[in-house]
Amino acid sequence: MQHLSPATRHIKKMDLTILGAGTAIPTPQRSPAGVLVRIGTTPLLFDIGPGTMARLGLAGVSCRDLEYVFLTHLHSDHTLDLATFLQINDSTPGWTRTRPIHLMGCRGTQRFYDQLMQVYPEISPQSYTIDICEVATERIAFDGWAIETAKTQHTGSSIAYRIEAEGHVIVYTGDATENLELVRIAQDADVFVCECAFPSGYPTDDHMTADAVGRVAQMAQVKQVVLNHLYPPALEVDIVAQVRAIFDREIVVAIDGMRIIV
Ligand SMILES: [Zn+2]
Ligand SMILES: [Zn+2]
Repeated sequence: MQHLSPATRHIKKMDLTILGAGTAIPTPQRSPAGVLVRIGTTPLLFDIGPGTMARLGLAGVSCRDLEYVFLTHLHSDHTLDLATFLQINDSTPGWTRTRPIHLMGCRGTQRFYDQLMQVYPEISPQSYTIDICEVATERIAFDGWAIETAKTQHTGSSIAYRIEAEGHVIVYTGDATENLELVRIAQDADVFVCECAFPSGYPTDDHMTADAVGRVAQMAQVKQVVLNHLYPPALEVDIVAQVRAIFDREIVVAIDGMRIIV
């Protein structure tokens, strides 16, 4: 248990870095999904798409210090580097991991992990434990921070995460559809990292379009929306203007490495 003086507690902030602003189709500025939130010195990783571990290092976080990984859903653009992460823990010369890994994810995460171990049996933890927790709609308190989840209806079990610390709120949707659960979990967020896969009016039944992002952000009265997980059609239009037509607060478009301190 960490004891912090009142002064130290006061300066603890949430520090958000977009590690992967893209999709299953990587582009030079937008890699597959990964979002880092640092609370004090504790790194929390949300999604772990291909290449995430390299970009985690670029953001100044050693995978040795990573203990908390959260999965929104199990599609490959959000999960492939879990194998890389586990491999690192048993392959680093001169270092052996002893601290546990806490892997939280949607329903099906345990089965996904078990199947991954069948494909790559050599990366199963030897010197440490991995504790897997499946969630749907829940609130879980940690030491000085809390996580809340809501179903996003992108897949049958996909979830969004609300991260709260020191009175500040970051919400990360993962892949999502427009629904009232998303409005509820995003309510009054300081930063709403929302997938914006396609332009307004684009036909989709399992992703967010710009107008849908605008409606959810406006209903939830978030302070800032970060447009994330943009597929190529969303990059061919003025996507900010499309969201701005409905949502009247701050809007930014995510690229890899973007950092926001809340
Ligand atoms: Zn995705
Ligand atoms: Zn997906």
